[in-house]
Formats: sequence, structure tokens, C-alpha cells
Amino acid sequence: MKIEIISCLSDNYSYLIHEEKSNIVSIIDPSEFDACDKVIKKYKKLDNILNTHHHADHVDGNLRLKEKYNSKIFGFVKDKNRIPGIDILLSDNGFYKIGNLVFKVIFVPGHTSGHIAFHFEKEKIVFTGDTLFSLGCGRVFEGTHEQMFNSINKLKNLDPETSLYCGHEYTKKNLEFCLDIDTHNSFLKKKALMINSKLGSHQPTIPTTLEEELKTNIFLRCDDTTIKKALKLENSTDQEIFSKLRDLKDNF
Ligand code: ZN
Ligand code: FE
Repeated sequence: MKIEIISCLSDNYSYLIHEEKSNIVSIIDPSEFDACDKVIKKYKKLDNILNTHHHADHVDGNLRLKEKYNSKIFGFVKDKNRIPGIDILLSDNGFYKIGNLVFKVIFVPGHTSGHIAFHFEKEKIVFTGDTLFSLGCGRVFEGTHEQMFNSINKLKNLDPETSLYCGHEYTKKNLEFCLDIDTHNSFLKKKALMINSKLGSHQPTIPTTLEEELKTNIFLRCDDTTIKKALKLENSTDQEIFSKLRDLKDNF
């Protein structure tokens, strides 16, 4: 399974997946036609388009790519009226094949009411869209904080060795927020060096791993007493901590 990272718009990432054995080409969240097509052209085909959610910056390439390559579009069943050109309706916890690859759909509502993640368990890879970012999480637009907290915890429980591919390059801004609260986290300071060096040479900070995120992403550490103390909310529940962090980040 080969993954190509495609930079789109100002800070979006689309991901091309090439399954070499059966020569099946798929794309996750084609933000825009031109940037994606430049990469797809090398393969001369696009079999599948997979969408994590309905926002324009994740589906804008759908129709033109489908028209050009006769691709099949996969999206969550609940969002069948919002995913342009949808062909295959996906269900929560369902398993689907693209070539020799199998992925599982994980329903992660909060950012939108129909958001899903694509989990390639065997390859230890997850595409999280706008639900879980490196050092952050998505804004809660259509769901509740409780839903988003539960969604993030679903992803938190995957194998720590899982590589995480998210929908945006928000890492630097997220890092600043994490450092603001979790000031003495040595893992975070180490990660900051890596992030600055990558961005300095115009490289994506993605993928990250769940293992790294568990040590550094404040939204995955709502159960940590260090974070609770920093917020002066020692007696709050993990979910209350999440809510507080989400509010603070919205205004950061
Ligand atoms: Zn979005
Ligand atoms: Fe987005």
C-alpha cells in the first residue's frame, strides 16, 4: 500500500492510495480537481473516491474526477444526500475492499453528524479527516462535545502503532495550543523540534502515529491529572476537560 500526500487549497491534504498488486488506485477526500489530477495522471486511472465527510474542502474534486476516470464514490450512508456523486453507501463498523486492501468504517460524529474514519487494520493506518488531527481535534460543528469526545476515544483505542493521516496541516497551530497548557511536557517539546524542521523544509508533518499523539495531543489526554491541574479543574470528568479544551481552542 503506497500513499501519496497531495497538498490542496491552503492547508488540506488529499491522499492517493495505490494498491500495487491489483493496481487499484483510490483517493481519500479529493479537495480539488487540479491538484489531485496532477498526481492521479501518473497512474492513468482512479478506481475509487472515499470521503470522510461532506464539507466542500473534502469533496470538491468528486464529480470531475468521477467523470474523467469513471470512479466509484464511497461515503457514509447517513450522508448520502450530501456527498456529491455517491455510489457506495458505507455503514458503521462495515468492512470494504479496494483491491486487496480491506478497510473498516468507524463512525466518528461531532465535526459533522456523518463523519467517518477509514481504518486499514492490517496495514495499521487510519484516515481521520477532520476528527483527529496531529496535536488537535476538529471543531464541533454538527454534533455535541460529548459525541466528539466519544469519537476521539474510539480512535484512541486503536493499536498505538497505527499511522494517522488527517485532513489538514494544522499541526503548528495545534502545537502552540498544546504547549500553552501542557507547558512542561518533554515529549511535546521534542515533537516541536521535529515539526519545525519539517515545516521549515516544506514537508508535511503527516503522518503521525497514535503512540506519539497519546503522549502529546492534549485532546487525547483529558484523563491526565497534569492537564486537569493546569486547567484548575482537578475534580472534573474527562469529558468536562475535553469540553473545556475545545472551548479554549475555539478562541485560541
Ligand atoms: Zn470539515
Ligand atoms: Fe476540512
